[in-house]
Amino acid sequence: MTVENSYIEVAVAVPVYHTFTYSVPQYLLPFVAAGKRVLVPFGRRRVTGYILGSSQDCGTAEIKHILDVLDEQPLFGPAMISFFQWISDYYKHPMGDVIKNALPGGLTLYDYASLTITPQGKQALKGDAINPFERAVLKLLDSGPCRLNHLSRKLNQVVPGALIQSLERKGHILKTRELRQASIKTRQERFFALADPVPALDRLSKPRKKIIDILVKQGEISMSELKRHVPTAARLVRALKNDGYLKVRHKRVYRDPFGEPIRADNPPVLNAEQQSVVVQIVDSLNNGFTTFLLQGVTGSGKTEVYMQVAAETLKQGKSVLVLVPEIALITQMERRFRARFGERIAVLHSGLSAGERYDQWSRILQQKADIAIGARSAIFAPFPEVGLIIVDEEHDSSYKQENNLRYNARDLAVVRAKLNDCVALLGSATPSIQSCYNALSKKFIQVNLQHRIERRPLPAIKIVDLRESLGYRGQQRFIAPLLQQAIKDTLDHRQQVLLFLNRRGFANFALCQSCGQPQRCKHCDISLTYHQKANAFKCHYCGFSRAATSRCDICGSSKIKKLGLGTEKIETTIHKLFPDARVARMDRDTTARKGAIVKLLKGLKDQTIDILVGTQMVAKGHDFPNITLVGIICADLSLSFPDFRAGERTFQLLAQVAGRAGRGSFPGRVILQTYNPDHFSILAARDQDFDSFYHQEINFRKALNYPPFSRMIQLKISGKDPALTQKCAHKLGDRCRTLKTLNSSAFGTIEVMGPIESSLTKIARRYRWQILLKGRHVRALHQFVSQLLAENSTVFHHSRVRVVIDVDPVSLL
Ligand code: ADP
Ligand code: ZN
Ligand code: ZN
Repeated sequence: MTVENSYIEVAVAVPVYHTFTYSVPQYLLPFVAAGKRVLVPFGRRRVTGYILGSSQDCGTAEIKHILDVLDEQPLFGPAMISFFQWISDYYKHPMGDVIKNALPGGLTLYDYASLTITPQGKQALKGDAINPFERAVLKLLDSGPCRLNHLSRKLNQVVPGALIQSLERKGHILKTRELRQASIKTRQERFFALADPVPALDRLSKPRKKIIDILVKQGEISMSELKRHVPTAARLVRALKNDGYLKVRHKRVYRDPFGEPIRADNPPVLNAEQQSVVVQIVDSLNNGFTTFLLQGVTGSGKTEVYMQVAAETLKQGKSVLVLVPEIALITQMERRFRARFGERIAVLHSGLSAGERYDQWSRILQQKADIAIGARSAIFAPFPEVGLIIVDEEHDSSYKQENNLRYNARDLAVVRAKLNDCVALLGSATPSIQSCYNALSKKFIQVNLQHRIERRPLPAIKIVDLRESLGYRGQQRFIAPLLQQAIKDTLDHRQQVLLFLNRRGFANFALCQSCGQPQRCKHCDISLTYHQKANAFKCHYCGFSRAATSRCDICGSSKIKKLGLGTEKIETTIHKLFPDARVARMDRDTTARKGAIVKLLKGLKDQTIDILVGTQMVAKGHDFPNITLVGIICADLSLSFPDFRAGERTFQLLAQVAGRAGRGSFPGRVILQTYNPDHFSILAARDQDFDSFYHQEINFRKALNYPPFSRMIQLKISGKDPALTQKCAHKLGDRCRTLKTLNSSAFGTIEVMGPIESSLTKIARRYRWQILLKGRHVRALHQFVSQLLAENSTVFHHSRVRVVIDVDPVSLL
């Protein structure tokens, strides 16, 4: 989009809901285009903004000039602007912040306040007319300038604003506004080629000659590649250049997030089921917007279907987006796609450094890649023309972002497909109730894969009733004899075992034996989990940690008993039971380091791991043919959540983890331990009977008017002052009810539930309340919230109480 006049519409990267008109000074006019970043004055600050296009609204007196144009090329195309607009409207989120969220991090420039010491300040430091607190601040600044909002952290105590003001007034310090530079830069590398003409070669030393030979063979080559052939290249090249053998050029390079090279593969011959699904989807590729729901049992060859439909899309000159719920799975998906499609793939996820992500983004913009694979944020990949959007494991709740911009990438995939007039393909063995409902009501087209590849059987699932183990002592309480025997048999056959427990740590409940109280987090209303390796009690919600040797918070006793289970304890126990087996663990604690996941997955593949213990990270999508036993240590953990989707999540998780067994030529089996052997989610998972689960669940949703029969928006109210937070929550509740009564024709059908205290009443020092808005019609619900926002009531703009709007909430805790 070119900008036609000298007024532009700009979304600024600050939390305001509307966009602004700025004017462009003559000398910047040639550089302005939609999709570029600009630096603009905003209030007393300078902030980053994004050009959306020319502005209609021009000529008024207060319009300010932009200060700078920050990009040579636009960061996103015109098609993305309507997508961003849709997101901003639907999720009730400021436009500028939507764009900021969508772009790779580190691109936002803004002003910050910086403090420096003045000569008077230095003088004062020598005398004794200042108090100790002032001295501490001046002393810190004497060693260099400091950002205002870093001061408290550096001094390890809260620095009152009044103190800063008084120091400023006395002339001891100076407050200035400085521009934070974007942290991301493009990377350049030196490339070498033979000079023309080349001087005589006969007198060259052997190493130098080797470099010349490489250049003759390869043409232009980068410094890093040259070093791979000749480790001492840096020194040699310098000399060769001085003697006129080489010419040097600086070129932009892209940081390489990929690991080892991958061998190319050939597409297998599809089986009849796969073939018919592929044909049906490919046929609709040119017919505008359609959403397919591909339901295929675990191991039925869904990924192969994705790849063949993707190949067709590329042939038509359009790009493909592939969303995968977890980084661990991206690795696997990426390898399979790269084996098939080569280097034209970009990956986008949080495991990349900011620089790597920026480079991947640029490769997409410059059309050096036409497939993007990534986690939820990959839905923003800036392809100009998308032909296919694949969402693998579409039921997965990690598609929902739970902070800042609370979007659901699965839902946005359908929206973007609609805006781009292309195909969305949602796949899962256990589709969400929502998507199934959409398929049954003909919004989506359902296609099925009912059999595993080569008609391999689904694993047999045996339920073990844990209530019968309650009388046992020691590890038999949580590893029943049947499971222990099964692990032994599997190891004897040199096959692999997966043990699943959806809770990390060693013991999740620390109880004081003197006063009988559980040990709670200092900042949350949550009991602490004991971690053996770290030898500490940790909070899984805010990261608070305290030494395991510390005494009871309440009575000071040192007798703290560690109760309950976590993956760490399972790992330790298994080590003891099977000392010869190679045991590894995969959960958030063991995979925090970059590359750790890939290493674990490689261990499974190369069979250097016999038993893998893990949380839901191991449940999803992995394809390891030698795993023949899956043990579910306790199936009930997610059942007891106070959330209407608890049954759905439990079923999905169990069916998925069970699906990891028997994917190769040996049949698999699953042992599922539970305290609720009669619960329908567990029975349905045992029988891998999706239909029966769906029918029970959908009746329950209908009876209680839960989604998909209604839509929901949750208002999350939180603050550090409990009484104030409660007051605000009630005030907001009253506003909702008044609005409903005042406009009963539009809002009569909306239910206002609450305010109630959240199930997790306090997290990271914030007290939490919630209001749930439920309605049959999404439009009315949205209007309702828009009106609440438009009222400009103090509740939404309170300085000490935060109100967050969560549209289609996934976590109701
Ligand atoms: P899903 O994604 O449905 O769980 P995958 O796509 O991972 O299943 O397929 C399971 C295994 O079967 C993979 O190892 C895959 O390479 C293999 N496979 C898929 N389709 C075929 C086919 N048509 N012929 C032979 N092997 C196949
Ligand atoms: Zn905490
Ligand atoms: Zn105690």
